[in-house]
Amino acid sequence: MKPIVERLFRYVKIDTQSTWESTEVPASKNEFVLGRMLVEELKEMGIDNAWMDEKAYVFASIPSNSKKEIPSVAFFAHLDTAPDETGANVNPRVIESWDGRDIVLNEKKNIVMKTEDFPCLKDSIGKDLIVTDGTSLLGADDKAGIAEIMEAARYIMENPKEEHGEIHICFTPDEEIGNSTEYINIKNVPAQYGYTMDGGELGEINFENFNAATATVKIHGIAIHPGESKDKMRNAVLVGVEFINHLPWRESPVNTEGYEGFYHVTDFKGGVDSAEITIAIRDFDEEKYEIRKRRIQQIEDFMNEYYGAGTVEAKVEDYYLNMAREVKKHPKVREYALEAMKRTGIEPIVIPIRGGTDGSTISFMGMPCPNIFMGSANSHSIYEYCTVQSMEKAMEVILNIIRLFAEG
Ligand SMILES: [Zn+2]
Repeated sequence: MKPIVERLFRYVKIDTQSTWESTEVPASKNEFVLGRMLVEELKEMGIDNAWMDEKAYVFASIPSNSKKEIPSVAFFAHLDTAPDETGANVNPRVIESWDGRDIVLNEKKNIVMKTEDFPCLKDSIGKDLIVTDGTSLLGADDKAGIAEIMEAARYIMENPKEEHGEIHICFTPDEEIGNSTEYINIKNVPAQYGYTMDGGELGEINFENFNAATATVKIHGIAIHPGESKDKMRNAVLVGVEFINHLPWRESPVNTEGYEGFYHVTDFKGGVDSAEITIAIRDFDEEKYEIRKRRIQQIEDFMNEYYGAGTVEAKVEDYYLNMAREVKKHPKVREYALEAMKRTGIEPIVIPIRGGTDGSTISFMGMPCPNIFMGSANSHSIYEYCTVQSMEKAMEVILNIIRLFAEG
């Protein structure tokens, strides 16, 4: 078995599933176990400064071996796996040169991955496909990313004649529950440019993600016995429904794609005397995003005029922002990633993330940080798979980025 595959298999054996219920960081104690393993492996490569902090963040760096002034670059991946599907007893296997026929993941349980259900599989015909036994997710999200960074680090350490700048490595816990950059001490990753290895299939690359805000709308009603409530009652539920009806329904997730933004009512609870609505606001475009946020305030004003001041109380808070704002300021981070893909023989597939990414938070911490594919498809599912070839290509992309920075 190829070393990069051995790595993946070794890492997925450790169950690092994040859970929403967890109140501790990291969410899974096993993230420490995987973190410790990675620190040991990095040290074995000769990267002596590898270490893990008390929240399971793993840090390591390889010093520059050049006299030239080369910008430093960091690579990130996450230790945990998704809460959606178990990460325990992962039993991966490689199907060499897959022939394109349906894959029986588990004969006993009759779990079959059908090509008609997953058309994306056709890109993997003839490649060495890594699949599960149908009882867990694979965890290639993001342990393939970890394996690729680790293999790239090993290559760098074994080929000291290749010129490179300072290289940083960081593995983070709890990405799947939105916590991985929450407790990161970015001072431990003093790089000028960064990349998360946490994208999807071969060739995918993201330079932008949504701007995201959360609107919390409180409705203050007036409860009175319904028998004597004429001209007195103010039913908070009905006022809430009216508020929601003022949102353009065409701009909801179910009606939008690509670069279109939306309003997404995620929660509505209450009674006659009070109600609360939670709305997710998303847009790529900065101006449109501001307009969306303003619209919430406009509906609030409009309804308060009718129902009386203070009936509706809306609060809009930024959640995360589009990393494109930061990435644009540093054209090299984009240029080198695209060039590195071409050098690896891959046609880049640039897609906007209709969600958030760690790279967004990191970018706003001062390190522009796009997201590169690590090869996993059908993530968070028992049908998750990746190919040996896309993992190898992802590792090549890492090395080519390092080379491009060195060339300047
Ligand atoms: Zn991931």
